[in-house]
Amino acid sequence: MACSSAAGAEATALLFRHPAPSSIAGRRRLAVPRRTRHQNLRISVQPPQKSTPSANHRKRPNIQRDVAAASSDKERRQKFEGENGLPNIQLEDLVGMIQSTEKNILLLNQARLQTLERADKILKEKEALQRKITILEMKLSETGAQPKLSKSDTEISDSPLVMEFDALKEENMLLKDDIEFLKTNLVEIAETEESLSKLEKERALLDASLRELECSFIAAQSDMLKLGPQQHDAWWEKVENLEELLESTANQVKHAAMVLDLNHDFQDKVEKLKASLAAANISKFCLYFVDLLQQRVKSVEECFQACNHEMHSQIELYEHSIVEFHETLGKIIKESEKRSLEHYAEGMPSEFWSRISLLIDGWSLEKKISHNNANMLREMAWKRDNRLREAYLSCRGMEERKLMENFLKMALPGTSSGLHIVHIAAEMAPVAKVGGLADVISGLGKALQKKGHLVEIILPKYDCMQHNQINNLKVLDVVVQSYFEGNLFGNKIWTGTVEGLPVYFIEPQHPAKFFWRAQYYGEHDDFKRFSYFSRVALELLHQSGKKVDIIHCHDWQTAFVAPLYWDVYANLGFNSARICFTCHNFEYQGVAPAQDLAYCGLDVEHLDRPDRMRDNSHGRINVVKGAIVYSNIVTTVSPTYAQEVRSEGGHGLQDTLKVHSKKFVGILNAIDTDTWNPSRDRFLKVQYSANDLHGKSGNKAALRKQLKLSSAYASQPLVGCITRLVPQKGVHLIRHAIYKTAELGGQFVLLGSSPVPHIQREFEGIADHFQNNSNIRLILKYDDALSHMIFAASDMFIVPSMFEPCGLTQMIAMRYGSVPVVRKTGGLNDSVFDFDDETIPVELRNGFTFVKADEQGFDSAIERAFNYYHRKPEVWKQLVQKDMRIDFSWDSSASQYEDIYQRAAVRARAAA
Ligand code: ADP
Repeated sequence: MACSSAAGAEATALLFRHPAPSSIAGRRRLAVPRRTRHQNLRISVQPPQKSTPSANHRKRPNIQRDVAAASSDKERRQKFEGENGLPNIQLEDLVGMIQSTEKNILLLNQARLQTLERADKILKEKEALQRKITILEMKLSETGAQPKLSKSDTEISDSPLVMEFDALKEENMLLKDDIEFLKTNLVEIAETEESLSKLEKERALLDASLRELECSFIAAQSDMLKLGPQQHDAWWEKVENLEELLESTANQVKHAAMVLDLNHDFQDKVEKLKASLAAANISKFCLYFVDLLQQRVKSVEECFQACNHEMHSQIELYEHSIVEFHETLGKIIKESEKRSLEHYAEGMPSEFWSRISLLIDGWSLEKKISHNNANMLREMAWKRDNRLREAYLSCRGMEERKLMENFLKMALPGTSSGLHIVHIAAEMAPVAKVGGLADVISGLGKALQKKGHLVEIILPKYDCMQHNQINNLKVLDVVVQSYFEGNLFGNKIWTGTVEGLPVYFIEPQHPAKFFWRAQYYGEHDDFKRFSYFSRVALELLHQSGKKVDIIHCHDWQTAFVAPLYWDVYANLGFNSARICFTCHNFEYQGVAPAQDLAYCGLDVEHLDRPDRMRDNSHGRINVVKGAIVYSNIVTTVSPTYAQEVRSEGGHGLQDTLKVHSKKFVGILNAIDTDTWNPSRDRFLKVQYSANDLHGKSGNKAALRKQLKLSSAYASQPLVGCITRLVPQKGVHLIRHAIYKTAELGGQFVLLGSSPVPHIQREFEGIADHFQNNSNIRLILKYDDALSHMIFAASDMFIVPSMFEPCGLTQMIAMRYGSVPVVRKTGGLNDSVFDFDDETIPVELRNGFTFVKADEQGFDSAIERAFNYYHRKPEVWKQLVQKDMRIDFSWDSSASQYEDIYQRAAVRARAAA
């Protein structure tokens, strides 16, 4: 796309005495070497060769001309002068002016070429141009002064020559204006250049996005079955973003086209310049130069046309790419839709059915459908009835009312063999997690859901919870009124799914802003906060008209549910459910003055009795005791702990537990093996499995780097500990373990924080003490991502608890190939079996345990672990692999819950 042939370019170069661009196609080829361009500029501002007398004696700069051309010009000039009788000096000036004009055109051409090459040179070009203008102005003023030197004013003013000069001067002024205008256009061209380069960048970005999109699509194809609607939404969001990007790019293309139009104006200006030059046809001699100028203008014009052509072809190319991109995107979208429909046809994930049941509940609470219809539809969703799925898919994009009508057409009574289970809790992982309770709610909930039960969760809507872990969070168009302290308070009900489970979040409209405290627990009015929440949770169930089979409440925070259900709600006819209460830790019992029970509407007089809610040792009321008395099922989180709490481990409730022993059982907690899976853990630097342990050392190296620990000795054992720093966890043994590990030549990483100020301070002191030690690191905060890395990077994991209802960290540690060193208590006793204990079957031995809660006890276990690690690396490796293969999933424990739920539900149905 050269603007002219090579010969044409050579001719142009000859005329302009500048190195000819080899070609003007493409900005790169247009480029003039930096040095040459500078030389050119120097030529145009050479010192004057002759001075012309003028009023202010300003020197006229020499105008560089071609020598050959100059000599033939001289002959013509002499001829011309003879014919016209004009003084030489005037003709010279005229020639000078024309030459200057010519030079200005030359400079314009240069500037145009240079602008296309580099925007940053524009300024210099402008300066050069400015100098030329100054020269022109000087000449003009000198031209005006010449006649004064040779003739009187009258003579001059009458002279046609002077008139011609005046006209020429005027013309020059016009030219000067034109030059100014051209300069402005040059700046615009530079901007066009920038816009083009921006467009190119955008295009590169779009190309990269397209490639990324294609990769994602390929990944999506393989992962489609695993994709939940959440990821699907993210995919659509990505496509939408891409479309936005496309739109903005298209706008930029439009903008570039506008700039090109401006460029056309620039061409018009050149035309005008031509016309001006034609008008400046003051003599034959001038005509000759005008002719030359016209040639220059023509060649400039050709250059402009070539540049425009180039820009247009680039734009065309770009637009073509955009069209191609749209086509590809369209294909991908179509393919994706096809895939997602195929995916739907194969069966929807739990997330889908959870959303459907939340939708139905929302309509029921908002009184858009009757309770009966809601129950029928809920049961269909629960049984994953394909008709609902099809109705949902066929109504996608339509208004909600249409979907509701379609659903109602299908509402049929049915019977489900599954149970309707509602967990009311203060925590749920990962949205609101403090400790193991959170893990249990999501882990057990998911496992029960997989077994075909309808599982729902009710949580407070904390301001500090991880909102980004909730899918499809929305507020229902209903306010649930609930009793508290003699008044009714409204509550907003939010719904969303967490880990594929349907969750209700309660936001009280109470002036105390119970869950706007930036923390989960530890407020002066915790008793009020959670008694309020327990009451609203039941109110919500009651108002939704659900026929729930099991209401499962957890720990003292929701223990209020048991007496509230039987003493308040059962009397209102809401009595289909049976209550299961799980105590995750008997250390926390919710003890308060008796009258505080009245806040949530419980009858103090009726309950403040030794066989009901009165605490066994203080004259106060005890909420956990109330739940033990009022629940149909009472569980704790491990068989050993269930035994321990029947004696002194019961923190005063042992007698109550004995009285209610028939309904009390210990079921070992488990872990959510989807969340805790080293072969798919997104928090890890390197994923790994029992069959390929290489990634484990990769994570160890990464953690060392992250925490600035020494990497000098790659196989130096790393001991991990992740815990709440409370007396229960054996803080004195944790402290001792730090020093002991250092003594044994290992590295130690502690991740934990304490709600107890003096413990937090103590550990901060230890952290400071070791801050420059390259083998010890204490991170005193809650950090989920870091916890995953520590489980993966550590070789051993300590849990030296004074008592431990279940403990999850030892199980997670084993799943990540970190051998547990634990005290034999509670759930630790049910999950960790000493490697050297010959009374235990070899296949069960998976860690190192100690009994006495003192330093010697701990040392005996950790020293044995270090010995195996150093001296028997093969045995150690086998132990690591064995630990990683142990099944700590919820399957078996959820079955035990299922069993006790079923029995309670059967009794309930029999009693109904
Ligand atoms: P508890 O419930 O008594 O706190 P568990 O062992 O049952 O103890 O559960 C503790 C859970 O909390 C585990 O999932 C553990 O990883 C997590 N955890 C404890 N402290 C932290 C912390 N500082 N940062 C991240 N996770 C933590």
